Amino acid sequence: MSNSTKYIFVTGGVTSSLGKGIISASLAKLLQARGYSATIQKLDPYINIDPGTLNPYEHGECYVTDDGAETDLDLGHYERFLNVPTSQANSVTTGKIYQAVIDKERRGEYLGKTVQVIPHITDEIKDRIQILGKKGEFDIVITEIGGTVGDIESLPYVEAVRQMKWEFENDCLVIHLTLIPYLAAAGELKTKPTQHSVKQLLEFGVQPDILCCRTEHHLDLTIRKKIANFCNVGINAVIESIDAETIYDVPLLMQAEGLDKVVLEKLNLSSKDVPNLDSWNSFLHTLKNPKSEITIGLVGKYVELKDSYKSISEAFIHAGVSNECRVNVKWIHSEKLTKANIQEELGELDGILVAPGFGSRGISGKIEAVRYARENNIPFLGICLGMQCAVIEFARNVLHMEDAHTMEIAEDSKFPVITMMEEQKTIANLGGTMRLGAYKCELKPNSNTAIAYNTDLISERHRHRYEFNNEYLKQFEEAGMVAAGKNPETNLIEVVEIPTHPWFVGVQFHPEYKSTVDNPHPLFVGFVNAAKEYKQK
Ligand code: GLN
Repeated sequence: MSNSTKYIFVTGGVTSSLGKGIISASLAKLLQARGYSATIQKLDPYINIDPGTLNPYEHGECYVTDDGAETDLDLGHYERFLNVPTSQANSVTTGKIYQAVIDKERRGEYLGKTVQVIPHITDEIKDRIQILGKKGEFDIVITEIGGTVGDIESLPYVEAVRQMKWEFENDCLVIHLTLIPYLAAAGELKTKPTQHSVKQLLEFGVQPDILCCRTEHHLDLTIRKKIANFCNVGINAVIESIDAETIYDVPLLMQAEGLDKVVLEKLNLSSKDVPNLDSWNSFLHTLKNPKSEITIGLVGKYVELKDSYKSISEAFIHAGVSNECRVNVKWIHSEKLTKANIQEELGELDGILVAPGFGSRGISGKIEAVRYARENNIPFLGICLGMQCAVIEFARNVLHMEDAHTMEIAEDSKFPVITMMEEQKTIANLGGTMRLGAYKCELKPNSNTAIAYNTDLISERHRHRYEFNNEYLKQFEEAGMVAAGKNPETNLIEVVEIPTHPWFVGVQFHPEYKSTVDNPHPLFVGFVNAAKEYKQK
């Protein structure tokens, strides 16, 4: 079968958390730097339709695409590395696969047939993989299979990979990411877990073409030969993936190991252009040689698990580089923040960010943090729930609306300054029913937000059910908190600012999802710049 799109699968063995997402994104970056268009897709073996209903403690941040898919945080890495938006098609789960197959069964599309894992589930998986290829936009589709080979739930995916390897022959290859542990007592790197993991793949009929070996120590020639020999791959297909100082080093480390070269060889693709990584290199150089340093407090309720705020912390890295400044993030647990310790916790900060979130836990700490930022003229960015907290704080402490609240937490509040969106009122299901994805927003000329974006019309991604209650807008504006951004069609307030404060911005949308290495997000750049100025004073 001939096909113009090439398919690369990335599987994982031995253990989870080896960094398949970063390896996939790094490879895509290298291929992109050689002039190929590449996209990355994540197949997640869990039964949830999407991670939207998963607690961030379980699965880290839920990342949102322009077209409103709630996805795994790896999609964020893909966008940050490639600077190309992903979409619904880039994120597939077992839940989605089964839902589609069961819907087809009900519609009678398999009439007369017994519906089975093979071929119906595997066919659906293969279709989902090829949706991106068939679009004709991409030379190469990299598909990352979540989980670890051998898990019961990932079996249908591995089987789909096996079938595609046969059907697509030279247009398809498998990269297996494994671990080479170092045994300190023996003073040795051990290859056995990798051998076993490759054996397991072989049992399912898949011979990996390339092995990416995650390790804490360099792999010498002897060990590379041993891995090649036991796992049936050429020595140039044994790629060392050593622990890196930052994730942004990984494309260069992979280039030094020749990952892109061996991939192109195996796919019969010419090495087109010499890879151009100039802008990436200069980003890294600035990242590692900052001229100044600031500390921003991130106030949230999931701070024990930093993956819950992945896009925010990465956006700070990008914005820091733009400002030639290292941004240290101080993680502050909103549940532990009180009037009594606020000075001690927030006193040394150059900027305060109140994070997105759901539910009442930690809300009073978030509101206190807003108050501290507002009263002390500390640069402030509130995102989604963080913006809503800014509105609540202003209502309570400036407009003296006692117990003003969001209807999410206090349905019977006398001052529901944050209220449920009209379209949300009739929705019964919780999954995939928020206001999701990109919406336009018109900015107030000369507001801090418009200055940061350097334009008056923007598009940003959303994930929420509640909104600013426009009935109170006049009172807020008269007292000094203004609507600096509105949806031009619905009039929903998307941005609030306090013009008398040096830099106080609350946004209903999530700017962090759109920050990339090539395009640091203007609002984060503006916030970091304001924090730098604050520190200088
Ligand atoms: N819980 C709030 C809402 O649904 C904020 C959501 C968020 O921060 N992503 O409106």
